[in-house]
Amino acid sequence: MFETISKGFRAARERLTGKGELSEDVIDAALKDVRLSLLEADVEFRTVKKFLRAVKAKALGEEVQLVAKGKDGKVRVRPEDHFVHICHEALVELMGPVDTSLARANKGVTGIMMVGLQGSGKTTTTGKLARKLQKEGHKVMLVAADVYRPAAIHQLQVLGERLGVPVFARPGANPVDICRDATEQAAMEGMDFVLYDTAGRLTVDDALMEELEKIESSVHPANIFLVIDAMIGQDAVQTAKAFDERLELTGVVLTKLDGDARGGAALSIKAATGKPIKFLGMGESLDKLEDFRPEGLAGRILG
Ligand code: GDP
Repeated sequence: MFETISKGFRAARERLTGKGELSEDVIDAALKDVRLSLLEADVEFRTVKKFLRAVKAKALGEEVQLVAKGKDGKVRVRPEDHFVHICHEALVELMGPVDTSLARANKGVTGIMMVGLQGSGKTTTTGKLARKLQKEGHKVMLVAADVYRPAAIHQLQVLGERLGVPVFARPGANPVDICRDATEQAAMEGMDFVLYDTAGRLTVDDALMEELEKIESSVHPANIFLVIDAMIGQDAVQTAKAFDERLELTGVVLTKLDGDARGGAALSIKAATGKPIKFLGMGESLDKLEDFRPEGLAGRILG
């Protein structure tokens, strides 16, 4: 999933192999390889600059030279290994920190509002999250709040049946009323979590945002997750900013990383929007949801 970026780091590593030390010229040459691969992977431009600046500062920094020589001045670390170590640290800083736990309501049922563009994987991710919560022993209800596409309601009902989770649906009704009534019912039934699968559009538009704002102010969900398709690359940044302006997102779920050789969105989102990625969609089936762990991803990128 990070083949493009990994290729750049591999090239940089090879370039450093056999070099005596990490001089500025040598670092600049290695960073050129990294820069090209980050841009090719569609990492947002400013994020690329921020990352390269951080790596260079670390590589030239005093602290780093100490590590390279060892505290007693004898141990030598190979420059290429040292460079990888620095890049690992910088990648983790770029993507983190992230707390993948869910916020809980002060009392009663906890709401999770799922928002995103059509086709981003919102309904699938709603099912995946329901499964995760169910496995943790929670009682979960799903709410079909995408009333514009009958197929979406049906899709959620199929998922609910498969999971053995109740689905609140009222085709034709107003989504705000649906979410409010569903929340009341979930509370009465002693549910722990209620997941609202809201409508998406092909692009961010005002009517969609207004509807989502109304749902938000009616049910006050503790979590608002934006689901984004990783394939859209750095457009993910604009999408996240547009949703966050209206909704105060609490986190992002990045889907379809399994089919994306670039993975640029995973690196850009936090740095460019301040919003943490909470989960990753790694396939179509319901068990393909991973907690977002910057250390693990940095490891995968650097091989
Ligand atoms: P929605 O319109 O946002 O509700 O999107 P859907 O949940 O209907 O998903 C759209 C398509 O993306 C479906 O074919 C899903 O099976 C697929 N999909 C969702 N998440 C993932 C993922 O993490 N990986 C892959 N490969 N496909 C996914």
